[in-house]
Amino acid sequence: MVKILIIEDEVKIARFLELELKHEGYEVCMAHNGREGLKMALETDVSLILLDLMLPELNGIEVCRRLRMESEVPVIMLTARDQTMDKVMGLDIGADDYITKPFAIEELLARIRNVLKRKVVQPPVGESLSMGELSLDKQQHSVTFKEERLELTKREFDLLSYLMENQNIVLTRDKLLEKVWGYDYMGDTNIVDVYIRYLRSKIDEKYGIKHIHTIRGVGYLFKYE
Ligand code: CA
Repeated sequence: MVKILIIEDEVKIARFLELELKHEGYEVCMAHNGREGLKMALETDVSLILLDLMLPELNGIEVCRRLRMESEVPVIMLTARDQTMDKVMGLDIGADDYITKPFAIEELLARIRNVLKRKVVQPPVGESLSMGELSLDKQQHSVTFKEERLELTKREFDLLSYLMENQNIVLTRDKLLEKVWGYDYMGDTNIVDVYIRYLRSKIDEKYGIKHIHTIRGVGYLFKYE
């Protein structure tokens, strides 16, 4: 069962959230100040935390900062409209999302579902490569964007895999040819351009992102932009 910890000092809001979340089938526990909230977060096995920013005893930013030293549990911050700086700081120190009060409960529920999904999807380190929303799993031989699975040929997969392994490094066509096609490939380096074009249409153009960069006269660079 998914258990959600609500850390919120305004009793009315806390009660409202409790009822709505229980109605959705979540288990709920609550704390009404930062210190108590942090303690519960560390001692209880919760799946997600709703964290108000303006809290007595220990504010939400401080709770999040201390929590992140020991735990990766997802955190959604509840902020007031005029707390832009705090939102930014909260995300910087490891909160997963925020929602501005007053909010529609449907929106919060959607964000909760999203954050929970994101955390579960994370594949084990070592076998997977990722950039932004794009992930490549070597063992399963799969590539996904957000949660959509991409259909790549073996060569496209190998090329993407090599680009992702060497992200932020400029790679020449010769290097790519050697590493992806092998020494014994007899064709010319145009084949690299052709496959880069395939990958661009299946990833960059399809999702409106730019990971594959052309370095004129040199080759290609895979980086987040
Ligand atoms: Ca508050």
